[in-house]
Amino acid sequence: MGRVLIVDDNEDNLMLFQEYLEDNGFETALASSGQQALSYLEEHDVDVIVLDVQMPGMDGFEVCRKVKAQENTRDIPVIFVTAKFQDVDHVATGLYLGANDYLYKPVAEKELVARVSVMVRLKAAEDEVKRISVTDDLTGLFNRRFLRKRLDEELSRARRAGFPLSLLMMDLDRFKIINDALGHPAGDEVLKAIAGVLQSGFRQGDVVGRWGGEEFMALLPNSDAAGAQISAERLRKAVEELDLSAIAPNLQVTASFGIAVFQSSNPETDASDLISWADGALYAAKEAGRNTVRAHSYIKP
Ligand code: GH3
Ligand code: MG
Ligand code: MG
Repeated sequence: MGRVLIVDDNEDNLMLFQEYLEDNGFETALASSGQQALSYLEEHDVDVIVLDVQMPGMDGFEVCRKVKAQENTRDIPVIFVTAKFQDVDHVATGLYLGANDYLYKPVAEKELVARVSVMVRLKAAEDEVKRISVTDDLTGLFNRRFLRKRLDEELSRARRAGFPLSLLMMDLDRFKIINDALGHPAGDEVLKAIAGVLQSGFRQGDVVGRWGGEEFMALLPNSDAAGAQISAERLRKAVEELDLSAIAPNLQVTASFGIAVFQSSNPETDASDLISWADGALYAAKEAGRNTVRAHSYIKP
């Protein structure tokens, strides 16, 4: 049904709203101050916030401002609750701060439940759109758009922290032959099986996606060339040993890998450098006979 955070300095209101919502199938969490609400949100996911405007200390407007300023909470719908009946300026202020809806005290059970339900539905729809926008349809891995964005973010982080960042590009070998021999749908099944290998083949914090066609990319934060080489080699073996007999008897597939590394000693390296270096290394792996790993060389000629 949905998880609702109720924020109100008045204990009676908290209990009443909790009863209304839980009686109608919602889960609730309670906070009796703005500060408590913000701390709760640091640790927990909720679908809707029902937020009292008039509270001592940090008022509802301030809480809303902070919720909307944080990347991880900004998409949670906020319903303000106020005692200032039909104060138009008040309502407008709240809505401009990013609130989605407004309720006046005393709040009727039916109206609270109905409005919270609308917001839960809205949040679920937005979450779904967000998920689709970063996901590759066929494999369920991250898509190219997401990879490109994360590459920029990880690169800034690496630059700030002075850590390395490795970019791994992987391309299936002679994949066209598999498509030609078994048909495109079987090729798609192979791509899904490969995605399964990739999903379980990396460390927490690594980012793996489909760059396009039969080409995949992984970002390995805080991993230098030696670390990336080990990851790629492990993956190369896992792909080579992957059991694809459910798709076709004796079917085997291999992949080639190219590695490029951002090193803090070369802070001017940018995202397109990394992509083109990894592409170059991948090309070298293909030239070297495929089913192998190559890294971009940093030794200037
Ligand atoms: P190489 O070892 O040089 O990479 O050879 P290759 O055959 O893998 O490379 P090429 O780029 O010539 O062909 C890639 C093939 O991947 C051609 C294309 O039909 C196939 N492919 C790309 N995207 C998909 C897809 O989504 N599904 C399927 N089934 N095949 C795809
Ligand atoms: Mg290929
Ligand atoms: Mg390719």
